[in-house]
Amino acid sequence: MARKQERIGLLLVYTGGGKGKTTAALGMCVRAVGYNWSICLIQFIKGSWKYGELEGLKRLKPNVELHVVGEGFVGIEDDTKDFEEHRKAAQEGVQLSIKKIESGEFQLVILDELNVAQTLGLVTREEMEKILAAGDETQNLLITGRGAPEWLIERADLVTEMREVKHPYQKGISAKKGIDF
Ligand code: ATP
Ligand code: MG
Repeated sequence: MARKQERIGLLLVYTGGGKGKTTAALGMCVRAVGYNWSICLIQFIKGSWKYGELEGLKRLKPNVELHVVGEGFVGIEDDTKDFEEHRKAAQEGVQLSIKKIESGEFQLVILDELNVAQTLGLVTREEMEKILAAGDETQNLLITGRGAPEWLIERADLVTEMREVKHPYQKGISAKKGIDF
């Protein structure tokens, strides 16, 4: 007799220096919407989502809920905000992530660029661990961003590292509508 298989949630990580981490996460969103899943996307680094995906995701309503936390880029020249302000914003993102995961409403929660927020010191390992602890075994959590820490890679069920083989940027071709933003 065939045994009914229980759905077990996975911890997925898309990392690495090549292009495709966020777009792969968006692709998973599209697939999950096909099964009428509820998905919560939380963007940790403001500005990392572009017009194309923000508009495209609106078409996936009401299945996809979108949140932008974070306060711009940290450490670049026109960054006038104090580090503490960035950190506070990122911590609000941590609290929001925990709340959304704990709600049990979502089969898939995507934390885009959380790895980058951690590398920048905006989110601590302890805070990330609290996020991971918030879910139950039925939920899927996807974390993106270059520089995934070793401990997260060890804990994850799936890790894909995007490796840059070629990028038009190397030929001086700048970001393109529909491809990059
Ligand atoms: P995408 O959003 O296109 O899937 P990503 O999430 O893998 O890219 P990020 O590290 O979030 O990459 O970088 C965001 C932006 O930087 C994107 O617009 C992307 O096109 C660009 N980018 C990504 N990888 C590279 C690279 N290796 N060289 C130059 N630009 C890049
Ligand atoms: Mg990205």
